[in-house]
Amino acid sequence: MNDFLKLAAPGISDLHPYVPGKPLEELERELGLSETIKLASNENPLGPSPMGLEAARNAVVGIERYPDDSGYRLKGKLAENLGVEPEQLILGAGSSDVIDMVARTFLAPGRNAVFSRYAFAMYPIYTTAAGAEARVAPALPSDHPGMPYGHDLEAMAALIDEQTRVVFIANPNNPTGTWLERAALRDFLEGLPNHLVVVLDEAYTEYVTAPDFPDGIAWLDDFPNLIVTRTFSKIYGLAGLRVGYGVAGPALIGIIGRVRHPFNVNVPALAAAEAALDDGSFLERSRRLNDAGLRQLAAAFDAMGLEHIPSVGNFITVALPREGAGVYDDLLRKGIIVRPVANYGLPEHIRVTVGTEAENARFLQALEEVLAS
Ligand SMILES: *Cc1c(COP(=O)(O)O)cnc(C)c1O
Repeated sequence: MNDFLKLAAPGISDLHPYVPGKPLEELERELGLSETIKLASNENPLGPSPMGLEAARNAVVGIERYPDDSGYRLKGKLAENLGVEPEQLILGAGSSDVIDMVARTFLAPGRNAVFSRYAFAMYPIYTTAAGAEARVAPALPSDHPGMPYGHDLEAMAALIDEQTRVVFIANPNNPTGTWLERAALRDFLEGLPNHLVVVLDEAYTEYVTAPDFPDGIAWLDDFPNLIVTRTFSKIYGLAGLRVGYGVAGPALIGIIGRVRHPFNVNVPALAAAEAALDDGSFLERSRRLNDAGLRQLAAAFDAMGLEHIPSVGNFITVALPREGAGVYDDLLRKGIIVRPVANYGLPEHIRVTVGTEAENARFLQALEEVLAS
């Protein structure tokens, strides 16, 4: 078997596959538990957008046909909502598909991609898979007064050289929840050379209510090398359907489109995403629940004396008095799935997705019990 590693393309032998959150079904099967809750994959605790769900159901009857490869209707509605042209959009099977397309378009052996420590785990995977070098910039220090563990834009800029082709920025970042403000990010973009592409990953942007939080799409006319990625997996509650998109200038979109797999977004996903865009009240409810849940979790962590990283996402990463992996296991036994983040270099933290008020309360109760024992 090991010989296949020698046959594999450059980069594949260095690849560490993505570790997803544990599925509920698996936990229930393994421990014979029921009534389990999953706060591990930043999914929407309110379920899917009802309008999206209905559209997906109705679309399933047409699955003997290939999907519309042009994504005409979804792109049309997105373009209208975002104030861009349909030619500025590329659809993906989740936004990670779009991020992968950027990596496959611009990265290769001898080239490099720059991103921050603690940044989203798919960046090193796509970079390494393309045979390129992953250049990881140190993050802001853990005792930074404003944004501990956040992206350090100066440190990232210092790693860029002639061979850099992609810079990945997650705003806000997962798993830290940290974010970049408008002025700082804009200054960074203005200082970049034009031989590289910037991926601004805005998977959680619809949740963010912080002032001075930038909207990357508003900057596309100023930065032809910028691509903004967004997803229907998070606030829209459609993670299981796999649909997301990238927005950039038409020239950049055209090039990236060369590596897109045909029919990459399936029939129910196209229909659900299109319908979910009209589900304003679901988005509003999701946002409000998340705001309240972030406050509920942060207040409880404060009361327990646990430091947590400032977050504007739908998750919060908390420091523990002992190894996160052990706390994760103990919580599993109580039927609660959170996310250990040792693979991100945060062995004494866990990341918890904001759930409903009752789910958060149950998690907090279980965490207190686990830490007391
Ligand atoms: C969840 C997430 C994504 C996208 O996930 P998809 O389901 O592929 O759309 C992208 N970036 C970050 C930082 C995420 O957390």
